[in-house]
Amino acid sequence: MNDIRILSEKVAVRIAAGEVIDRPSSVVRELIDNSIDAGASRVDVKIERGGISLIRVSDDGIGMSRDDLLLCIERHATSKIYELDDLYNISTLGFRGEALASIAAVSKLRISTRQKGSLVGYQLKVAGGKVQSVDEIGRPEGTTVEVKDLFYNVPARRKFMRSPRSETDSVVDVFTRIALGFEDIHFVLQADKRTVLNFARTNNLVHRLVVPFGRDVAERMVQSTGLGEGVKISVYLCPPQFARTKADRLYVYVNRRSVRDRMINKAIIEGYGRRLMKGFYPQAVVFLDVEPSLVDINVHPAKQEVRFSNPGSIFRKISEIIDSGLGPSVEQYTVASEKSAGKKVAEPFQLSWHTPDSSYDLNLTLSPDREIEEGSIGTTLLDEQVLVIGQLNGTYILCEGQGGLVIVDQHAAHERVLYDRLIKAVQDASVEVQTLLLPKTIELSLREKRVLQEKSGLLSKLGVEVEDFGGQSVLLRGIPSLLGNANWDFLMGELIEALEQGKADRETLMHRAISVLACHGAIKAGDVLTRQEMESLLEQLNRTALPTNCPHGRPVCRKITYYELEKMFKRVV
Ligand code: ADP
Ligand code: MG
Repeated sequence: MNDIRILSEKVAVRIAAGEVIDRPSSVVRELIDNSIDAGASRVDVKIERGGISLIRVSDDGIGMSRDDLLLCIERHATSKIYELDDLYNISTLGFRGEALASIAAVSKLRISTRQKGSLVGYQLKVAGGKVQSVDEIGRPEGTTVEVKDLFYNVPARRKFMRSPRSETDSVVDVFTRIALGFEDIHFVLQADKRTVLNFARTNNLVHRLVVPFGRDVAERMVQSTGLGEGVKISVYLCPPQFARTKADRLYVYVNRRSVRDRMINKAIIEGYGRRLMKGFYPQAVVFLDVEPSLVDINVHPAKQEVRFSNPGSIFRKISEIIDSGLGPSVEQYTVASEKSAGKKVAEPFQLSWHTPDSSYDLNLTLSPDREIEEGSIGTTLLDEQVLVIGQLNGTYILCEGQGGLVIVDQHAAHERVLYDRLIKAVQDASVEVQTLLLPKTIELSLREKRVLQEKSGLLSKLGVEVEDFGGQSVLLRGIPSLLGNANWDFLMGELIEALEQGKADRETLMHRAISVLACHGAIKAGDVLTRQEMESLLEQLNRTALPTNCPHGRPVCRKITYYELEKMFKRVV
């Protein structure tokens, strides 16, 4: 018995379509790519219900003749390459001739177009891959592709679509990624009849970086360029303190095409090197201008991956340029907080963690002439009497404990303290809010702003009071008094990230948010402490539910016993 059969054309086309088009945002990407390839100077994108009901992309590019219009929805129909050799020298975004055929197979498609210099235009209607009509019409030069009811004839695929909202997010992301690569084209995105993004033409990319990164971050980005073997590399780097727990703010371009490549991401992270904490991803934009013959874009139908003929040397170069672009001072980033950015914190009496709240019982009201109290009787930590010996490297509190040396990580300790206090305050609905005299404007991405608005109830329980400020901005009006010293530009991004992840329940979101607040509110490594402050911190720590670990699970204190010390010095064997 023979079991092998050739699939019918209908099935084969659907399978192929699924590789290129898996959700509305991939349709948007393919259509914008086509508009760019057609030489458009303006591209208008319109979606309804996340693109599930409607996607319309209009351009003022070269348009198509009637014959080309009929051909463009056939599989492997492309005007961009002619022969095999062309595959190794691709300068357009498209070349596989699959997108329109795939879209046509799984939607109700209408394409209208007028070729440059032609007097009339044409409109083609297709449903489920079948041509319904071709008509002569009047319209401006250029092309409009309208896709309705995506996957209406592929129920299995339709089931996999997410909510209109998350499909919209994905379209916004795809749209923004493409727009960053072509700052000479005007891009407009409308979702459900509202203009959500409008990128005017510009010759300064920073104007566009403001949209995905927010103004504060974009303005702090450093730019750097360099040359490698057959490649020109240009990078825009956010300072490492803006690192995130996801790689969602890494924008990578190969010959202006937005790609997602794990190896390039790795090279970027390596470039940041020790400036980043483990598990964190920087925010950065990397443009690679590679000789077309040295890169293969034809790795995946969606053309999101690339392969280089000399990957090692390109990756090394990327890391190198990033490393030198960020500058030699690792300290500057790990140590400095907002007020002291750029200079090392050294003077003990100008700490940036002063809190305006006098009820804060970690005693932080410093005065330059405060003397270390004589005959300090010591502090209790983990039910053990300890005596603070001093501070090591502005980071660790060293104590003489019973039977050994106790080392406390000051940041982790303070984080634990703040975490417990916030949890308790939230439980008792007694979070003290400090109203800002000068409310602070914070620039966000549209998606971040939406999350923030959705979670404003939860935030106000935490003492974080924000208000819509139009456009992409929000106004920060009040903060939990416990966190007087946090850098809110940075904190807000992480807070939103904590609040948006997945299907977590309210309780989990609350705990995540509190962890973020505690981490940012806590004193940092490099903050010099007086003995009293250290003692006060240890007292506080001792009162927490779990003094041994910070909210992230890292240890807060460690002990080296005298026995271990003696072994170290070979006093015992
Ligand atoms: P590819 O982009 O890989 O060539 P597509 O299926 O996306 O394949 O498009 C097929 C062809 O249709 C393109 O090669 C191009 O000639 C034509 N085409 C598609 N979109 C446009 C557009 N917006 N303006 C002009 N021509 C277009
Ligand atoms: Mg294409």
